[in-house]
Amino acid sequence: MPTPVPITVAHGDGIGPEIMAATLHILKEAGAALEIDTIEVGEKVYLTGNTSGIAPSSWDSLRRTKVFLKAPITTPQGGGYKSLNVTTRKMLGLYANIRPCVSYHPFVRTKHPGMDVVIVRENEEDLYAGIEYQSTPDEIVALKVISRPGSEKIVRYAFEYAMQYKRKKVTCFTKDNILKMTDGSFHKIYDEISAEYPSLEKEHWIVDIGAAKLADTPEAFDVIVMPNLYGDVLSDVAAQIAGSVGLAGSSNIGAHAAMFEAIHGSAPRRAGQNLANPSGLLHGALLMLVHIGQPDVGERIHNAWLRTLEDGVHTYDIFQEGLSKQKVGTKEFAQAVVSRLGQKPQTIKAAEYSTTPRPPIKLPTPKPAPKADLVGVDVYIEWPSREPNSLAAVIGKASGDGLTLEMMANRGVKVWPEGSPQTLCTDNFRCRFLGSSVTEKQIVALLDRIGGLKLPIGMTVSLRNYDGKAGFTLAQGQ
Ligand code: NAD
Repeated sequence: MPTPVPITVAHGDGIGPEIMAATLHILKEAGAALEIDTIEVGEKVYLTGNTSGIAPSSWDSLRRTKVFLKAPITTPQGGGYKSLNVTTRKMLGLYANIRPCVSYHPFVRTKHPGMDVVIVRENEEDLYAGIEYQSTPDEIVALKVISRPGSEKIVRYAFEYAMQYKRKKVTCFTKDNILKMTDGSFHKIYDEISAEYPSLEKEHWIVDIGAAKLADTPEAFDVIVMPNLYGDVLSDVAAQIAGSVGLAGSSNIGAHAAMFEAIHGSAPRRAGQNLANPSGLLHGALLMLVHIGQPDVGERIHNAWLRTLEDGVHTYDIFQEGLSKQKVGTKEFAQAVVSRLGQKPQTIKAAEYSTTPRPPIKLPTPKPAPKADLVGVDVYIEWPSREPNSLAAVIGKASGDGLTLEMMANRGVKVWPEGSPQTLCTDNFRCRFLGSSVTEKQIVALLDRIGGLKLPIGMTVSLRNYDGKAGFTLAQGQ
């Protein structure tokens, strides 16, 4: 018996305790060597008034074991509560979310018999940075954060994953025809890193048509890497079209820790009835067994599980009259898997887990910083009349001392000079002042002059060129 590996386990909310009990039962019977530390997270913790959903002492357990097997939790609706999943990913630096979505035709109903897609989702950045502001009474903004080190890590992870699991292709989804700087940078980094893996096929799709193709012909894809928001949405779509959200598991991997879970939520309506399918969490646990160096145990469980599906022993969510043989509850399903340990599927290809240890993913080395030149500032001004020319007449008086009002935009569209009368304006105007070789002191003096004109200043953003290239976009229509 190998030395037990310490892991932290949370039983979660809703169906969580039932599917966790079923999963741990299977792991134990299959001979997984684990030393389990149980923590409480989720609803009960939130309702004690802890808005993070996790007690400080639980972080000690997670930092000690560095491996977290987590059942789904319920996030109370409404203000103040932070998503524990997002908090855990960020606190532990879990930058990669891996979601294999596989169909089990003909044993689980699916329109896509040959589907075997792995979604590699960036897990810490993008709109999930959660930086939002109410800029003015009319406008709320969220900042989409895409960093070079963050993108390099996730793209490299996707290529390393493809090599280790003998995949053929890594596709990238972005929306860089519109988000030219953020998604454009992700795409550019994908191009740079893909050049280091000549044996793998690569391709890039604009996310909208890529998503349509994925939903229609998932067989055309293998590994897909994408920024956080697209990955969140499309991995649920991919899991559902493979057969059921109740089947897929996911891993959240960082340099120092990892978290394993089902992709679905706590399904409160199904809780306490011995109904839920434990397979999603079990798949999370299989990914964990590979991570902690017990792939042989993972392979045994995986094959027993495939055999259970083939034998038609199904929970309600995948049960089909005519094909399924026995409708079972959570506990009975787990028992059916346990009783098949040592068996292999007869029709579906048996799982074969590599026993070669996975080398750690190379972390990016920072590039030398480009030469930055300050060339101006965007100043957001609240202007309740929502009429651009009258604002230009006032704020234009702040020009001078090397900074000139060049342009005003509203919701990204140029509205001065020569705006289109059809453009709907809100009360938040972006006023762009430009100069050459500008100093911070000049910008502070400009803001002081704008304040002197009694104009309410919102966000201000410095405008820089990096190695001579603008570090900001033009407004639409500019
Ligand atoms: P959900 O995934 O919990 O459930 C949606 C539906 O899918 C269920 O009603 C059920 O019909 C089906 N389903 C899901 N898992 C199943 C399983 N294992 N077996 C059989 N059927 C299953 O989504 P929801 O209802 O939108 O969210 C419920 C709660 O879960 C919310 O509080 C949400 O915040 C939370 N949530 C948590 C996580 C997580 O902890 N990782 C993820 C998503 C949602």
